[in-house]
Amino acid sequence: MYRAPVAEISFALKNVAGMSAALSNGELGDLSEDLVDAVLEEAGRFASEEIAPLNTGADQIGAKYENAVVTTAPGFKETYKAWIEGGWNAIAGPEEFGGQDLPYMMAAAVGEMWNSGSMAFGLCPLLTTGAVEALDMHGSDELKSMFLEKLVSGEWTGTMNLTEPQAGSDLSALKTRAEPAGDGTYRVFGQKIFITFGEHDMADNICHLVLARLPDAPAGTRGISLFLVPKFLVEEDGSLGSRNDAFCQSIEHKLGIHGSPTCVMIYGDGFNGNEPGAVAYLIGEENRGLNCMFTMMNNARLNVAVQGVAIGEAAYQHALAYAHERRQGKSAAYLGEGMSPIIEHPGIQRDLLTMKSMVQASRGICYSLAHAMDMAEAKEGDEAKLWSERAGLLTPIAKSVATDMGCDVASMGVQIHGGMGFIEETGAAQYMRDGRINPIYEGTNGIQSIDLVTRKLPLSGGEAVKAYIGELRDVVVAVRGENHNAFGNAADALDTALDAVDEATNWMLGQLENGGMQAALAGASPYMRLFGLAAGGCYLAKAGLADDTRQRAGLARYYAENLLAECAALSKTVTEGAESLLLAREQLNLA
Ligand SMILES: Cc1cc2nc3c(=O)[nH]c(=O)nc-3n(C[C@H](O)[C@H](O)[C@H](O)COP(=O)(O)OP(=O)(O)OC[C@H]3O[C@@H](n4cnc5c(N)ncnc54)[C@H](O)[C@@H]3O)c2cc1C
Repeated sequence: MYRAPVAEISFALKNVAGMSAALSNGELGDLSEDLVDAVLEEAGRFASEEIAPLNTGADQIGAKYENAVVTTAPGFKETYKAWIEGGWNAIAGPEEFGGQDLPYMMAAAVGEMWNSGSMAFGLCPLLTTGAVEALDMHGSDELKSMFLEKLVSGEWTGTMNLTEPQAGSDLSALKTRAEPAGDGTYRVFGQKIFITFGEHDMADNICHLVLARLPDAPAGTRGISLFLVPKFLVEEDGSLGSRNDAFCQSIEHKLGIHGSPTCVMIYGDGFNGNEPGAVAYLIGEENRGLNCMFTMMNNARLNVAVQGVAIGEAAYQHALAYAHERRQGKSAAYLGEGMSPIIEHPGIQRDLLTMKSMVQASRGICYSLAHAMDMAEAKEGDEAKLWSERAGLLTPIAKSVATDMGCDVASMGVQIHGGMGFIEETGAAQYMRDGRINPIYEGTNGIQSIDLVTRKLPLSGGEAVKAYIGELRDVVVAVRGENHNAFGNAADALDTALDAVDEATNWMLGQLENGGMQAALAGASPYMRLFGLAAGGCYLAKAGLADDTRQRAGLARYYAENLLAECAALSKTVTEGAESLLLAREQLNLA
């Protein structure tokens, strides 16, 4: 069973993501290293002892639907209650509404642990956190005072309602409509699909953040507004009032995360017996809803990226334990009696080291994104802009690379189990199934790669990405300056990988400038992978530099000398692959 790697997480936060420096510069308020460790320790205990034991039941029994009511998996309700009573939901919430206002780095670190314990469980607070941020940043004072305290504490939960059958990646096709009711409130009508924790029994109220169109709104994404639609209306004294016209019609049968109800939501169909129309409150300005929702989505993208790390970590631990236990064959290096544990075989060691290094590389990327978000808040003026651009650049990279690596790691975990990996009872397959959603939701990884290439590379005329690559180069310089040989040829491998990133980046910027958009988009996904692989190698090296035991330098070396060779090939795919793709597309029965 999963054991939270508290020491590793603490090390990554402090030495890789930059938390120690931020603490000593006073950029993280009253937080101290001791407090960080105390919080991580307790979160690790809760995740390992309270949440992880729910994971198998969440998968095998899952959430159940009957007559618009959703009953969550065994233990979810009780554990969620204990979890919010422990103050965990409030960790990053605004202080004014009872939150602890801790940095994104802390939220990411504890979020990793909840999601390693059970991704289905971790999803509910993931959505609530996004709702809190969007409401806090864009909501009126009245709305905030009505909803924020309970959302911050977790007594009420939040959802995010974007997707409709005809509007997935492309929200311009959205049809759900909202009408002003004449009293400052609105009525919402429409269907949303795939709504995570849209209905459940863990909280007294659910606050749906719903994208909808007002009458006469401009077409496309410029005509979308954001509304808060509570499951139960809230009276002036804060008590719960009548049931709103917002109901769950069904929940999806799906590949994984069975403990997380994925709901079809119907708004305004008169299900509550009253006149049809779900009572709704506008968040932010009319027709500016997508901007407000982006606050929620950016937060959620970091948190989904962290889910990739979480699944990878749990799958790695599971496979490592099995590889020590299972005996087959006799490795030449094995001196014991009889068959050796499979971990003695070099091929299994390769798989496990690849898994471990990928998890730590993606953790480094995610926590560094959280650090950039913290710095963007802590700084002002030009410095804040620099950090905000860094966060913008790292968001699609973290979301894609960490979630793809999570899937790769979970799949390798199944392979290490042999036939038993394919048998559900071992639990290895669950990680693979659960983690497979991560590259899909919160903007598919394909959409993330388009975001990286078309919106993030051009930031500050290309200077933001160049500055970042420059910082990664500084890590390599530091590796070269080490007077021990634990890094082996890692510096050369890292430099070659960064040369590949430079080459592909310059090519991309050239395409964007010279009307080569189709060619740029054709290379966007391999470019994303290339960037993430190389950046991950630098974060591993950073960990190696900070580690007196040299263990982490050894892992950084393994990754650099074994995984980074792919970077040069990826750069070639990006810069030379577009022409053949644009010709071969004829074979896809296109008109
Ligand atoms: C379990 C689960 C939970 C979810 N939770 C929520 C939730 O809480 N709230 C919510 O609103 N939604 C939720 N979603 C929906 C999710 O965010 C969408 O499924 C996702 O954004 C993709 O949209 P789609 O399924 O319509 O795929 P499509 O948009 O139809 O995409 C299909 C494929 O085409 C690609 N593609 C699409 N457009 C382009 C383009 N312009 N260029 C290149 N490639 C493109 C995509 O990358 C993808 O590979 C959830 C989905 C699932 C399965």
